[in-house]
Amino acid sequence: MQPDFDSELDNILGPRKIFHIMECEICGFDEIYFKDPETAQQIGVACEGCHYIKKFDF
Ligand SMILES: [Zn+2]
Repeated sequence: MQPDFDSELDNILGPRKIFHIMECEICGFDEIYFKDPETAQQIGVACEGCHYIKKFDF
Protein backbone atom coordinates (compact mmCIF):
# COMPACT_ATOMS: atom_id res chain seq x y z
CA MET A 1 0.00 0.00 0.00
CA GLN A 2 1.23 3.47 -0.96
CA PRO A 3 1.96 5.66 2.07
CA ASP A 4 0.00 8.88 2.11
CA PHE A 5 2.29 11.55 0.70
CA ASP A 6 0.32 14.37 2.33
CA SER A 7 0.64 12.89 5.81
CA GLU A 8 4.38 12.45 5.24
CA LEU A 9 4.52 16.15 4.32
CA ASP A 10 2.62 16.90 7.53
CA ASN A 11 5.17 14.95 9.53
CA ILE A 12 8.25 16.44 7.88
CA LEU A 13 7.25 20.01 7.02
CA GLY A 14 4.21 20.67 9.23
CA PRO A 15 1.87 23.57 8.36
CA ARG A 16 2.65 24.90 4.91
CA LYS A 17 1.39 26.78 1.92
CA ILE A 18 2.37 26.29 -1.68
CA PHE A 19 5.01 28.84 -2.70
CA HIS A 20 5.42 27.83 -6.31
CA ILE A 21 5.27 24.78 -8.54
CA MET A 22 7.80 23.70 -11.14
CA GLU A 23 7.95 20.71 -13.43
CA CYS A 24 10.21 18.09 -11.87
CA GLU A 25 13.33 17.56 -13.99
CA ILE A 26 13.41 13.90 -13.07
CA CYS A 27 9.86 12.62 -13.45
CA GLY A 28 7.96 15.52 -15.08
CA PHE A 29 5.47 15.63 -12.23
CA ASP A 30 4.84 18.74 -10.11
CA GLU A 31 7.76 19.77 -7.92
CA ILE A 32 6.17 21.86 -5.19
CA TYR A 33 7.97 24.49 -3.11
CA PHE A 34 6.37 25.21 0.24
CA LYS A 35 6.46 28.22 2.51
CA ASP A 36 5.56 28.67 6.16
CA PRO A 37 2.05 30.18 6.39
CA GLU A 38 3.15 32.45 9.27
CA THR A 39 6.62 33.66 8.32
CA ALA A 40 6.38 33.15 4.52
CA GLN A 41 9.87 31.64 4.62
CA GLN A 42 10.52 28.76 2.26
CA ILE A 43 10.43 25.56 4.26
CA GLY A 44 10.91 22.78 1.76
CA VAL A 45 10.36 21.16 -1.60
CA ALA A 46 8.64 17.95 -2.56
CA CYS A 47 7.84 15.84 -5.60
CA GLU A 48 5.18 13.21 -5.26
CA GLY A 49 6.26 11.56 -8.51
CA CYS A 50 9.76 10.92 -7.11
CA HIS A 51 8.44 10.48 -3.59
CA TYR A 52 10.95 13.13 -2.56
CA ILE A 53 10.61 15.53 0.37
CA LYS A 54 13.35 17.93 1.38
CA LYS A 55 13.13 20.28 4.31
CA PHE A 56 15.19 23.47 4.14
CA ASP A 57 17.25 24.10 7.25
CA PHE A 58 18.34 27.59 8.17
ZN1 LIG B 1 9.86 14.07 -9.59
